[in-house]
Amino acid sequence: MTQIAFIGLGHMGLPMARNLLKAGYPLKVFDLVRSAVDTLAGEGAVAAESAADASDQAQVVISMLPASRHVEGLYLGEEGLLARLPAGTLVIECSTIAPESARKVHAAARERGVALLDAPVSGGTAGAAAGTLTFMVGGEAQALEKARPILTAMGRNIFHAGPDGAGQVAKVCNNQVLAVQMIATAEAMALGVANGLEPAVLAEIMRQSSGGNWTLEKYNPWPGVMESAPASKGYSGGFMAELMAKDLGLAQETASHSGNSTPMGALALQLYRLLLKQGKGKQDFSVVQQLFVE
Ligand code: NAD
Repeated sequence: MTQIAFIGLGHMGLPMARNLLKAGYPLKVFDLVRSAVDTLAGEGAVAAESAADASDQAQVVISMLPASRHVEGLYLGEEGLLARLPAGTLVIECSTIAPESARKVHAAARERGVALLDAPVSGGTAGAAAGTLTFMVGGEAQALEKARPILTAMGRNIFHAGPDGAGQVAKVCNNQVLAVQMIATAEAMALGVANGLEPAVLAEIMRQSSGGNWTLEKYNPWPGVMESAPASKGYSGGFMAELMAKDLGLAQETASHSGNSTPMGALALQLYRLLLKQGKGKQDFSVVQQLFVE
C-alpha cells in the first residue's frame, strides 16, 4: 500500500492522519511538537525525527501546517523537501495559505517532476475526526485522481476547484463567509439575551428561520447552547482566532490583487485583530462572542 509521510499534527493534522491509519495506510509522521508524534506512534504510525526523515521512502507527502511561511519553509530552498523528493512523488498540501504562495510551491514542484495539489479543507476539527472534511483542490486533474483514494479516507466532498492555487482561492472565499456569519450570529445572540431571551431558545428559533447558517447548525458561539461546540469548552480546541485572522488577511490580499471590494471581509478582519490584541488569538474563533457581552 502507498507509503505516506504526514507532516503537521496539530488540531487538524492529527485526526486526519489517524483516519489514514484506520484506512490501513502505512504512515510516517512528523511535527515540531514531539507529543503529537508520540500519540500517533502509539496508534501504529512510525515516528520520524524530521520532515526529511518522514518523507524518505514516501510515495505521497501530506502537510497540514499553520500558514504560508511554514509551507514555503518546509518545501522550498536548498534545505526544503522539494530538493530531495524523487520525481513522481505526490504532494498533497492541505494548509490554508496564500494562493500566491501555493502557486510558488506548485512551480517549484513542477520543476522537480513532483506532482503537487493545493488541497485546503473545510469542516473543522469535528470533520477531521469524523473523516467528513471537504477538500478544495487546485492543480492537475491527473494528480487529483491519484490522490482521490487518500483524500476519501479523510473527507467526504472532494472538489476540483481549478488549476494551481484555485483550492486556496475557494478556501479564502469560504472562510470569509464563515467569519462574517460567526460575527453576525454572535452579535445577534448577545442582542437577544440582553433583551431577555434564553440563549438556547433564540439559537433554535434563528437556526430554523431565515437567519439559519452553519454556525447556528454546528458551532454556536454562546457557551452552553451546544455541548460539543468550543464555546461550551471555554473556547478551547477548534479553529484558533489567529488562524481565522490569517485567512481574512489572505482574503483581503486576494481581493487587492483582483481589485474586488470586500467590505464585510475587511470589517471581520478588523474585529478578529481586536481579539488578537486582547490576547484571545489561541482560543477558538467563536470567542468573537466576547466582543459583544459585558
Ligand atoms: P495547528 O496550529 O493546531 O497545527 C499546526 C501544526 O503544524 C502544529 O502542531 C505545529 O507544531 C506544526 N508545524 C508547524 N511548522 C512545522 C514544521 N516546519 N514541521 C512540522 N510541523 C510543523 O493548526 P490547525 O488548526 O491544525 O490548522 C492547520 C491548517 O489548517 C491551517 O492552515 C488552518 O488555517 C487550516 N484549517 C484549520 C481548521 C480548524 O478548524 N482548526 C479548519 C480548516 C482549515
